[in-house]
Amino acid sequence: MPEQQAAGIVIAGAGHAGGSAAAFLRQYGWQGPITLVGEEALPPYQRPPLSKAWLKGEADGAGLALRPVAFYAKQDIALRLSTRILALDRAGQRLLLADGGAVPYDRLILALGASPRRLSLPGCALDGVLELRTTLDADRIKAALGPGVRLAVIGGGYIGLEVAASARALGAEAVVIEREARVLARVASAELSAYVTEQHRAQGVTILCGADVEGLEGQAGRVAGIRLRDGALISCDVALIGVGAVPNDGLAREAGLAVAGGILVDERARTEDALIHAIGDCTVRPVPLYGRKLRLESVPNAIEQAKQAAADLCGRAQPAPEVPWFWSDQYVLRIQIAGLLHEVARTVARRDPATGGVAFFHLAADGCVQAVEAVSASAEFMAGRQMIAKRLPVAAEALADPARAMRELIPS
Ligand code: FAD
Repeated sequence: MPEQQAAGIVIAGAGHAGGSAAAFLRQYGWQGPITLVGEEALPPYQRPPLSKAWLKGEADGAGLALRPVAFYAKQDIALRLSTRILALDRAGQRLLLADGGAVPYDRLILALGASPRRLSLPGCALDGVLELRTTLDADRIKAALGPGVRLAVIGGGYIGLEVAASARALGAEAVVIEREARVLARVASAELSAYVTEQHRAQGVTILCGADVEGLEGQAGRVAGIRLRDGALISCDVALIGVGAVPNDGLAREAGLAVAGGILVDERARTEDALIHAIGDCTVRPVPLYGRKLRLESVPNAIEQAKQAAADLCGRAQPAPEVPWFWSDQYVLRIQIAGLLHEVARTVARRDPATGGVAFFHLAADGCVQAVEAVSASAEFMAGRQMIAKRLPVAAEALADPARAMRELIPS
C-alpha cells in the first residue's frame, strides 16, 4: 500500500463512477481520507432509472441512490455536495471551487461525467424544451408528461427512445425525430434498429427518420412545434433534446492534461499526471479486446474504471479487462448489448419462438463473435459475452438454431 498522506484522495464528480471509486477504495483497503466533491445536491445516484422507472413513478429516491447515505459516514467518506469545481490547479495540487474555496489533494480522481449535447437551433430556449441527465431534469419531464400530452423527442438514441416508451406508459403521445436513416444509428446494428423501430411503432410512437430539424417554434414563449428542413411542422407540447452527451473534460484540458474527445487514460485509468486518474463518461480509454481507444458511456464502464483506479491507488492487481456492455429497457423489452460492432463480416439472427426473444450475433471474418445484441434473451446475452471474451470461432448455423442450448456453443 503506498504511503497515505493528509489530504488523501479527492474524487471530483460524485456520480456513478466517483461514488463507485470511493466504495472500491475502502473495499481495497485505502485507510486515508477520501473526499467526494460534486455539484449535484444528492449523494451518488443511478441515472438509468431516470428515463425508465423514475419517469414512470415506479422508483423512489432510495431506489435511485447508489448506496444508502449512511454508507458514506460509516466508511468515513466525506461528501461535499452542491459544490461546483471551477478549476484544477495541478501545480498547487488542489481543486478551486465556485464558492471561492479550495480542496487540496494528494491523489485526484476525475469522475466528471458528461453533459447533454446542446443544439444551436432557433427555439431551443423556449419553455418546454427539455434535456435529461439529472434527477432535476427527469422531474421536469415527468411534470410535463401525462395523458394526451404530445412529446417530441429530437434524437433517436437510447435515452430518447426510453423516454418515448415511458411517455406512452404515462398516456402521452410521442414522436421521435431522427436525422439519420435509422434510430440508434451510432450505437446499434441495422438489425436491432429495425427491431426497435417496429416495437415502438406497435406501441403508437411515430418514428421519423432522415428528418432534419430546422428549428423549434413557440407560442407565447412555449414550444409548440418542431420545424423540419423539408417544411413539415410536428406539433408538440413538450420537446426533449436527446442528441447524445459531451464529456466534461474542460477542467482537465484547461489544466493541460491530454484530452481528445474525453480525458485520455491508460488501462489503469491513469492520466499522464502521476497524481491524477480519470474514470467514467469523461474519459477515452483503451478497450483491449478490440485494440482501440474509445469513450464508453455506460454504468458497467464507470464501475470497471472505478475498480481500475482504486486497484492502482491501493497497489492491488488490476481486475481482468471486461467485455464492454450496456442495457436499455423499453416497454417490456430488455435490450442487452455486449461487445462492439467492429469489423463485422456477418450477422446471425437467433429468434426463439418459445420465449419471443431475439438476439443478433455479429461475427468477424474469422468467425469470432464481436458483439451480441439481445432483446429479452438473457441466455444469449450472457453466452455471447463469454464468446466475445474467448475470441474463438463459433459455428454461425448453430448460433441461429434456437434448439441448440447457448451454453453448449461457447467454445472452450
Ligand atoms: P455521472 O454519473 O454523470 O457523474 C458525474 C458527476 O460529476 C455528476 O454528478 C456531475 O454533476 C459532476 N460534475 C461534473 N462537472 C462538475 C464540476 N465542475 N464540479 C462538480 N461536479 C461536477 N448506462 C447504462 O449502462 N445503462 C442504461 O440503461 C443507462 N441509462 C441511462 C439513462 C439516462 C437518462 C442517463 C443520463 C444515462 C444512462 N446511462 C446508462 C449512462 C450512465 O448513467 C453513465 O454512463 C454513468 O452515469 C456514468 O457515470 P459517471 O460518474 O462517469 O458520470
